[in-house]
Amino acid sequence: MGEFDLIERYFKSAAKTHGRVDLGIGDDCALISPAPGMQLAISSDMLVEGRHFLSTVSPEALGHKALAVNLSDLAACGAQPLGFTLALAMPRVDASWLQGFSEGLLRLADAHGCALVGGDTTAGPLNICITVFGQVPSGQALLRSGAQAGDDIYVSGSPGQARLALEAFRGSISLPEAAFAQMRERMERPQPRVALGLALRGIASSCIDVSDGLLGDLRHILKASGTGADIQLSAIDSIANNAVFMPTNGHFSQEFGRQMVLAGGDDYELLFTAPQAQREAVRRAAIAAQVPVTRIGSVTAQPELRLLEADGALLENSFASFDHFKS
Ligand code: ADP
Ligand code: MG
Repeated sequence: MGEFDLIERYFKSAAKTHGRVDLGIGDDCALISPAPGMQLAISSDMLVEGRHFLSTVSPEALGHKALAVNLSDLAACGAQPLGFTLALAMPRVDASWLQGFSEGLLRLADAHGCALVGGDTTAGPLNICITVFGQVPSGQALLRSGAQAGDDIYVSGSPGQARLALEAFRGSISLPEAAFAQMRERMERPQPRVALGLALRGIASSCIDVSDGLLGDLRHILKASGTGADIQLSAIDSIANNAVFMPTNGHFSQEFGRQMVLAGGDDYELLFTAPQAQREAVRRAAIAAQVPVTRIGSVTAQPELRLLEADGALLENSFASFDHFKS
């Protein structure tokens, strides 16, 4: 199968055109018309075998995740997805791999009204690079830089689960079968919080998606905003002990649970701040988006990140986050 047949079979014929895409795959450029008064929001993410995914992952899950991590960036900005491009290098043309990969990819794309509008295809070590395009009302994008002292800090969903699955894969922990299946799903098929990002426009003062670990990504907000934060460990413990973790309760120490939630990585949850006056609005946004949200602390003027026990005692912060160039 030649390059053009491959594009036609797996990507062009299967991709749906959505909304504001005027011209998709097949010409030298794609054409997208953002709605009047909207800014384009653009983000790219590359996935490399062995570093971002294991060779054991199914092609369908890989297709899903490759787009999910990009949609998560749009979500963090409060942007509505429009379309994306796919630059794909693969060692050989493997029809069953391409079938699974394109299915996982395009199913998630359709679920978010995000059209595959173009890309590039070449032979080489497996490498998947996606660029997404979204739109957000001018001046309303959620940025990392807007946190103010006194704001509440929230995180969506159950960060820590993807990392639990990774640890189980590595053999450093063992999980009951049902729990492993659930955590593995979180690692391989993260659900980008697009609806929550949209619902938080005009409410959140800053936002980021958690890819490298909650604390590491929180530091990005704090640095960009010139603020610090107090994190309540009781809230972190309750995330670690929540219903979804239940099957694992009793298996792990409190310290380990905190490690997973605070430094796990690969979560693709939204970490955001909002003024205290917006608590009710945040609650409604979470309900509208059907995503649980936990208040985990507050923004401080002093540019320091502190972890506080329920009695106010300070925990020495030893939770490193994931950095591709370290270790
Ligand atoms: P060019 O020579 O202009 O780079 P190509 O021959 O590489 O064009 O691609 C032909 C068309 O197919 C273009 O519209 C391009 O965007 C699209 N395309 C190529 N690879 C992919 C892919 N992996 N997914 C989606 N569209 C693709
Ligand atoms: Mg090309």
